Amino acid sequence: MGRTLADLVATLAADPRHGAVVCDIDGTLAPIAPTPEQATVLPAALPELERLVERYTLVACVTGRPAVQARRMVPIPGVAISGNHGLEVMHGDDVTVVPQAARYLDAVHEALLVVENDGLLPELGCRVEDKGVTFTVHYRGSPRPDHALRYLEAQIVPKLDRAGLAWSFGRMVLEVRPPVAIDKGSAVRRLRGRKRITNLMYVGDDRTDLDAFREATIKIAVRSAEGPPELIERADACVDGPEQVVELLASL
Ligand SMILES: [Mg+2]
Repeated sequence: MGRTLADLVATLAADPRHGAVVCDIDGTLAPIAPTPEQATVLPAALPELERLVERYTLVACVTGRPAVQARRMVPIPGVAISGNHGLEVMHGDDVTVVPQAARYLDAVHEALLVVENDGLLPELGCRVEDKGVTFTVHYRGSPRPDHALRYLEAQIVPKLDRAGLAWSFGRMVLEVRPPVAIDKGSAVRRLRGRKRITNLMYVGDDRTDLDAFREATIKIAVRSAEGPPELIERADACVDGPEQVVELLASL
């Protein structure tokens, strides 16, 4: 701690050949929208990422979205993508679910059906998003998010526990996934592979980004009223929103 954002940027930018820039997408490169379909990466971010690809050894996005969606949002071939919190790996245009997680596809699908058939969730303004090897319950659209959250905690989480699945709450979401030791941290580790990287900057806004912080030498939190306080506590520096993330990228 004690390093300013300018110091951190200078450290990374001084040696781009041994540097990596890894970003989350939603809430980081893309402002949060009422529904995930409406979210788009800030247009100004794309040329910056393209420029960074030329300079840095690794430029990547690690996201909770399916990899194919992430690629559509960041259509720059040089930017590596890890989707579904590291459960999906993208090689070219091909997406593979990592084998440990693929074993749980049926269990995730069964739980998805149970949640989709819960009659009260639509009444509470919750939407269920099928993401293949994971699914997400969004309660951003709920007229009473506190009620929705309480219902999810009391009625849905125990069902997920009984199904043996892993879950976590994020910014107005409940994310459900296979109970495997893969997260955004292992996703970053996989992306870095055997590349000789001394400085890895990770930028994120939510709870699952804490896992990626484990693997980063420079941890940048995107501040929001909804984000977990631990993210700010563990970060080396903070920015105030996606616009400032673009400014950060431009400074690298
Ligand atoms: Mg995010």
